[in-house]
Amino acid sequence: MTIQLQNLPYAENALAPVISEKTVQFHYHKHHAGYVQKTNELIYNTDLENKSLEEIILTAASDATYQTLFNNAAQAWNHQFYWQSLKPNAAASPVPEQLKIAVERDFGSVEELKKQLQAKGLAQFGSGWVWLVAENGKLSVVSTSNAQTPLTNGAQKPLLTIDVWEHAYYLDSQNNRAAYLQNVINTLLNWEFAAQNLTGE
Ligand code: MN
Repeated sequence: MTIQLQNLPYAENALAPVISEKTVQFHYHKHHAGYVQKTNELIYNTDLENKSLEEIILTAASDATYQTLFNNAAQAWNHQFYWQSLKPNAAASPVPEQLKIAVERDFGSVEELKKQLQAKGLAQFGSGWVWLVAENGKLSVVSTSNAQTPLTNGAQKPLLTIDVWEHAYYLDSQNNRAAYLQNVINTLLNWEFAAQNLTGE
């Protein structure tokens, strides 16, 4: 068994103009595919070969000798989750009611959640990710560095993520991470996906 590169849930030009077709092509076919390929090379002929991607990540996270495997496997998972966290024309869809209630309880408003995603994403020094997570039923915004993922924090359930590595926005916005974050947050976040992850559907 090998780890599969899952298909994108939309066309490669469907996130334009915020994320161009060229960025999606490089990000998906070079970066994401590269992490999947490297993970498969590293598990080949080992006792991790028949494990799920999640099991590989948890095993690799607990052993420093697996650092390279962890980085590649976690990046494979994070990217798969990122593509699902985005949706073309997402601004046209309302935040599902159950998620909206939880957001208003824990952030005050959807606007405040968006502000925190922007602020945490901008504050992440160097490469990483910003996440909406649920922990003991309470929602919060966290950021992780490089390949780190809330998956390895047993208490945190990821609901959605935004990639803030430069390769996610440099072709479109050069160094302007703030513009990328603002446009993604306002127009591309897949709130239905976050709601499904919250309710476990
Ligand atoms: Mn990336």
